Amino acid sequence: MNWIERDKQSIWHPFTPLLGVDDPLYIKSAEGVYLITEDGRKILDAVSSWWVNLHGHAHPAIAKAVAEQAASLEHVIFAGFTHKPAITLAENLLSILPDNQDKIFYSDNGSTAVEVALKMAFQYWFNKGDVRKKVIAIDGAYHGDTFGAMSVGERGDFTKPFNEHLFEVEFIDFPTPENESKVFEHFKNIIETEEVASFIFEPIVQGASGMRMYNEQFLDKLISYAQDHNILCIADEVMTGFGRIGKLFACDYISSNPDIFCLSKGLTGGAMALGVTSCTKEVIEAFTSQDLHKTFLHGHSFTANPIACAAAVASFELLTSPTCRVNLSRIEQKHKVFHAKIKGHPRIKDIRYKGTILALEFFTDKDSSYFSEMRNQLYPFFLKKNILLRPLGNLIYLIPPYIITDKELDKIYDAIEEFLAL
Ligand code: PMP
Repeated sequence: MNWIERDKQSIWHPFTPLLGVDDPLYIKSAEGVYLITEDGRKILDAVSSWWVNLHGHAHPAIAKAVAEQAASLEHVIFAGFTHKPAITLAENLLSILPDNQDKIFYSDNGSTAVEVALKMAFQYWFNKGDVRKKVIAIDGAYHGDTFGAMSVGERGDFTKPFNEHLFEVEFIDFPTPENESKVFEHFKNIIETEEVASFIFEPIVQGASGMRMYNEQFLDKLISYAQDHNILCIADEVMTGFGRIGKLFACDYISSNPDIFCLSKGLTGGAMALGVTSCTKEVIEAFTSQDLHKTFLHGHSFTANPIACAAAVASFELLTSPTCRVNLSRIEQKHKVFHAKIKGHPRIKDIRYKGTILALEFFTDKDSSYFSEMRNQLYPFFLKKNILLRPLGNLIYLIPPYIITDKELDKIYDAIEEFLAL
């Protein structure tokens, strides 16, 4: 039996058919921007394996940090103990997050970083003797697969079987230049009439719903209004964080500072899963009293795993290097030129870019949902050309590792043009 046959007998891959292929590909190793199969086929990972591998695969500095940490302290429970990688990483993150961020809380992945943020915000009010049930979120959002994260996300194909079990959320429409004033009125009305605990959002770019971008000044306006009414603002930077949209954080584009940040994905540069929720001093103070019942009752076995934190410290060094800054603007510049070249193509409904993201939406007379027929066309077309792009209905996007070369970007753009010429 080969690896795929063995895989089929023992592993459930519910996502694979959604991509328009029957079986997963067996990957033997990965290096730089490439995933390598057993027979030596090299696939250009233009989505950083779902927005994770910031500096490519198996980066020597990250691999070294992981190996050294594994050999000295691989794990210790984070209740009653602490360690150097966790402390160093927390200090590093606080040095780049907005000044109002006071403490780092560790968890395991993006969804749990969001769960923690939501629980923090609910309990913040509870500890103050004020039970607030409502959260405001933006239509089309994706914040993760766990129940709290699903509650504040788009109620669609992904949540249908669970909708009755999700908590109550007030959704505002996705902001566009045409509807901003209406959305703002709705937002104000919710805040004035409901007991709102928090406002959660993907800042500037909604990732999983198709790299949809909205106006940063408008986001600023929403946050300022919510904060003027003492509502905790949660920036889910799981996708946008760590340079993805040009600046270190999406919130670096705005002037107000959210109260809580959720981070994951690029945090460790892809070597390990790790989640972070940071918050202000004011939030922390609601939990620190003599009454133990008021402490934050949330903890995971793998919280602040030393190997994951060490990988994140190594990734942070790479991220904050001058080389990385140069790469970020180089990629954005390349996207800009390509955008100018193909915009207006009759098959393109919309094309947008920001930082390292480039997304193309195609005209289709068919269903453009996640389950659309177009997935059977898009993903396999690029994969045959040894390029991994992410399809979403009638849309495809790239979000490459920062080490991708101009030549490799050109290869992707050429393939897109070939697809357009079909
Ligand atoms: N928040 C956002 C904005 C995300 O894009 C994602 C993942 N796509 C998550 C949360 C959930 O992260 P994870 O997949 O690590 O649970």
